[in-house]
Amino acid sequence: MSQATATRYPLVLVPGMLGFIRLLFYPYWFGIVSALRRGGAVVFAVQVSPINSSEVRGEQLLARIEAILRETGAQKVNLFGHSQGSLTARYAAAKRPDWVASVTSVAGPNHGSELADYLQKNYPHDSAKGRVLSAVLRAVAWVMGVLETGYRGPKLPVDVHASHQSLTTEGVALFNQRYPQGLPDTWGGQGPEEVNGVRYYSWSGTLQPGKTDRGANLFDGTNRSCRLFARTFVREAGHCDGMVGRYSSHLGTVIGDEYPLDHFDIVNQSLGLVGKGADPVRLFVEHAQRLKAAGV
Ligand code: CA
Repeated sequence: MSQATATRYPLVLVPGMLGFIRLLFYPYWFGIVSALRRGGAVVFAVQVSPINSSEVRGEQLLARIEAILRETGAQKVNLFGHSQGSLTARYAAAKRPDWVASVTSVAGPNHGSELADYLQKNYPHDSAKGRVLSAVLRAVAWVMGVLETGYRGPKLPVDVHASHQSLTTEGVALFNQRYPQGLPDTWGGQGPEEVNGVRYYSWSGTLQPGKTDRGANLFDGTNRSCRLFARTFVREAGHCDGMVGRYSSHLGTVIGDEYPLDHFDIVNQSLGLVGKGADPVRLFVEHAQRLKAAGV
């Protein structure tokens, strides 16, 4: 077996909102876990509350990290977070930097999501529309919980309002005041390479007409959703992946922020259907090689 991605510490993959490990046989990190393992990495895809605040999810992640450290005998882990998984990982690293060698944000709303802002404005949680949206999300989370086959553990609490607050520009600004590790000082800049011994990295994509809406994405409804969601963006209009803006995703060393990948493509969804010329799995493999070279 190749040892190209055999990092010193295990890789722990943290999903975003409505995340899962496996729905029946279908994995969240489609083709990614297997590619990393083929290169010799020890990989754990973990589950946290599919709908909840980044702090609640972060506490659940800390418990999971503690168990992984015990199980593997490793001293630290490398965290990868997709979407809200980035905020979840950042929380865990801020609380226990001694357990975390690196945090990698993959399309993370590190400065908030303009889609969440739009929903807050147009679907306030105490309005009729907001209550309907909340009921739909709870129902989706419930069905996904029934289909989840990768997670074995206590029932994870769901809190739609807290989840939403955790994703708006305003909510993430509050989160960032308490957990600023890895953030850039200026809008669009890079963050520090390392804080409290934890390395920080990020990458993200943008919708690129003629690329992201072509190829296999022609057959992927989630790409159409991203194009629809992208219309809610104002500050980063034309520079987002449908759910997260290009600059909002910046954390630590920015590996790239203009890959032709929508918010789902970036974790190889759905079923590896991505746009023309895109290779999201390669980004994970290359990054594991980068971590290995950095000695973590
Ligand atoms: Ca796709």
